Amino acid sequence: MKLYNTSSKQVETISSLSNDSKIGVYACGPTVYDYAHIGHMRKYTMDDVLVRTLEKTGWQVNHVMNITDVGHLVSDGDTGEDKMEKGARKTGKTVWEVAQHFEEDFWQKLDRMEVRRPDTAPRATDHIAEQIAQVQALEKNGFTYEIPGDGIYFDTSQDPHYGELARLQLEEQKEGARIGVTEGKRNPADFALWKFSPTDQQRAMEWDSPWGKGFPGWHIECSAMSMCYLGEQFEIHTGGIDHIPVHHTNEIAQAENATGKRPFVQYWVHHNFLLVDGQKMSKSLENFYTLDDVEERGFSPMALKMLFLSANYRDELNFTWESLAAMQKGYEKLQRKAQQLLEQSAYESWEDVPEVGAVTLSAELQKIYDDFVYQMTNDLKTPQALATVWKLTKCKDVQAIVLLKEMFEFLFSPYNKTVYADWTVKLCSGSPRTLINENVFFFF
Ligand code: AMP
Ligand code: ZN
Repeated sequence: MKLYNTSSKQVETISSLSNDSKIGVYACGPTVYDYAHIGHMRKYTMDDVLVRTLEKTGWQVNHVMNITDVGHLVSDGDTGEDKMEKGARKTGKTVWEVAQHFEEDFWQKLDRMEVRRPDTAPRATDHIAEQIAQVQALEKNGFTYEIPGDGIYFDTSQDPHYGELARLQLEEQKEGARIGVTEGKRNPADFALWKFSPTDQQRAMEWDSPWGKGFPGWHIECSAMSMCYLGEQFEIHTGGIDHIPVHHTNEIAQAENATGKRPFVQYWVHHNFLLVDGQKMSKSLENFYTLDDVEERGFSPMALKMLFLSANYRDELNFTWESLAAMQKGYEKLQRKAQQLLEQSAYESWEDVPEVGAVTLSAELQKIYDDFVYQMTNDLKTPQALATVWKLTKCKDVQAIVLLKEMFEFLFSPYNKTVYADWTVKLCSGSPRTLINENVFFFF
């Protein structure tokens, strides 16, 4: 399996750090303060495609996705309102109700997209102790300083590797959007690890810490929780391309300087955006559609999935209703072709069609299948993989149904991911309220 690694800027062959078949995948999850839009769906659909492909090629995957329910401020710097408090103000609910409501809505949307839920979905608010411990480790190692009345900050000038992922230059750091206006920062790129609660008002979410009452900075949750479930160093970390210069750059700085181990992550996988009229689909631009909008207009979530698959995850994809309509037609045509092939075959039903491997394939079919696998395992070339599915529908050989079933189900069907009970590292004492396993919530 090959993937483009943002870190090396090269397509690399994946290998396991433990030299066995286990691969840890950490995906930056949603901030649950509002409804997810279909831009978010693109990212999580393609994460699922990645996990499926890894599993198909024999890796045992532990897929961890965090839920950000505190600490993500409106600006990507360290200023502005907490998004959760903003959500609470907008809906008239408590922050806890907001988090629960939008998290549940998010899972349901993934279900509708036939995107499998991750194996573990830790929430930031359940892992405050781990985040504090990581800040303490950074403090002990000499990477922090305090801005009185504001918070504990990471001193980027202490880390010679800071910004390598994004190839950040000092000049860019001076000019970049990430530079907050926070007074007292020693360097423009420095960022908050722990923010103090204001003295004149009580925050809806705040915790005691060695530095006083407050709440974690946004980036610390991901380095703390990924280590907790996947170890201090692990294989794959995913996120949108917007996370490269700030969130992931800061995660690396936190993790590597807390543990002294490099690299924190072997392969950085970044998804490009879903656009509308050439601009990123986003809440702030108010140019977004949700899955409800898609279904209300009579489209199937599978047509949306097909639209996502029609572009490589590293490329921008411009959303239009026309392109979605074309995908709906394409998806329906694919279903009809599959039905026709089934009728021509000796199999009674879809379930009777054997798996690839159980039948001998003609050279032509074998070539099509090999091409499909090649495309998927070469940096998830989903448009080319879809093209092989179309090739099958034109094939005269009735055994084509065997491949069609396999490939169609691989891309579109609900997916029973294998859960490896012995996998979880769990280096922390955090007790997640939700461990997600086989689409069932377990409450602890
Ligand atoms: P957020 O909740 O805003 O942090 O976003 C969660 C994830 O969705 C991040 O990895 C973002 O990069 C990604 N994301 C947000 N907007 C889009 C978009 N328009 N297209 C693709 N991914 C997006
Ligand atoms: Zn993250």
